Amino acid sequence: MAFNINEIRKDFPILRRKINGHPLIYFDNAATTQKPQQVIDSIVEYYQNYNANIHRGVHSLSQEATDAYEIARKKIQKHFNIEKDYEVIFTSGTTHGINLVANGFTSLLNKGDEIIVSAMEHHSNIVPWQMLAEKTGAELKVIPMSEEGTLVLSEYKKLLSKRTKLVFVNHISNALGTINPIREITQLAHDAGAAVLIDGAQACSHIKPDLQELNVDFYVTSAHKMCGPTGVGILYGKEKWLNKLPPYQGGGEMIKEVTFANTTYADLPHKFEAGTPNICGGIAYGTAIDYLNTIGFDEIATYEAGLLDYATVELLKIEGLRIYGTGPHKTSVVSFNIEGIHPYDIGTIVDKMGIAVRTGHHCAQPIMEFYRIPGTVRASLTFYNTREEIDIFIQALRKAKAMLT
Ligand code: PMP
Repeated sequence: MAFNINEIRKDFPILRRKINGHPLIYFDNAATTQKPQQVIDSIVEYYQNYNANIHRGVHSLSQEATDAYEIARKKIQKHFNIEKDYEVIFTSGTTHGINLVANGFTSLLNKGDEIIVSAMEHHSNIVPWQMLAEKTGAELKVIPMSEEGTLVLSEYKKLLSKRTKLVFVNHISNALGTINPIREITQLAHDAGAAVLIDGAQACSHIKPDLQELNVDFYVTSAHKMCGPTGVGILYGKEKWLNKLPPYQGGGEMIKEVTFANTTYADLPHKFEAGTPNICGGIAYGTAIDYLNTIGFDEIATYEAGLLDYATVELLKIEGLRIYGTGPHKTSVVSFNIEGIHPYDIGTIVDKMGIAVRTGHHCAQPIMEFYRIPGTVRASLTFYNTREEIDIFIQALRKAKAMLT
């Protein structure tokens, strides 16, 4: 499809809203993206026409809902080029997927084992592993990052050893926009005999990861970061790893047979899908993936690269403005501060002009500590944003700066 920004913007009803008397400019896409009408319609359609519980009903409505849910799983499988559909586990989102794997590794790690995280992770890719380290006695090591906000791979190589059991890194940093070299990180981990989990929460609205090509062992992401609803996401795991991990939660749907003496677990993917899932969320996630593929990820990448370049050049014209995350491979996220001004104050003033940006530590406090700052202003742009919106944002920043200094 030819990339037509005016047509694309029409798909997002929220973009017609006014905030504080101004047309909404939504630059907080890394927190969550807005939803196109197609996704909203698929949610309404489910509840209006075929709401039923799945996998266990013989009646027609239950069959319809089951079929739609399983079709969504197959769409996701195809999108991420996953070998087997049962390697796609529906979760409530990235955080759930990471906790599921971290919990599973409790029985696979011993004292003296090592696990490796990067210096630029979201708290949800740090805290579950700290809890795991505490439970097992394994040691958590950290890949350092450079001043420009890229991982120092020479140091990573030094951390890897026979003791390394698992490496977990984000595909794209939510706070800096840095795109990490996942293939290289994975290959090095595999050479050392370690497994790899990639946090794809920030990557999936910008790029289409080919999980067989990347050869990662686990990949987690959230639908709401890629035009889908909240409360649903996936964990991809290679079959051999999903078979090694014990179930995370017990309950209905995840069993083969239950007696008071003994319970046996269901096959993949159901072993990890206890309880009634977010049925309409899963279906709408499939719709979101269809929507993004109709626009095309190459088209999205080209358009967003243009936005990033433009925003970077225009922002740097503001005196005293510093951007964090200046490496060569980054996505359309600009994290910055203006000298002498607290990010929160900027966020509050531009909100009065209808502009939504995120301010603070972005759930990545170690990055803020690294730069010795309390937080940043983060403008995270996506394919439905425009240069005109960036112009208005720059004007708003100049006004805010004048007011605050
Ligand atoms: N990792 C990264 C890099 C993120 O940006 C986020 C969301 N901000 C998460 C993990 C957590 O995702 P969720 O809250 O959807 O579980």
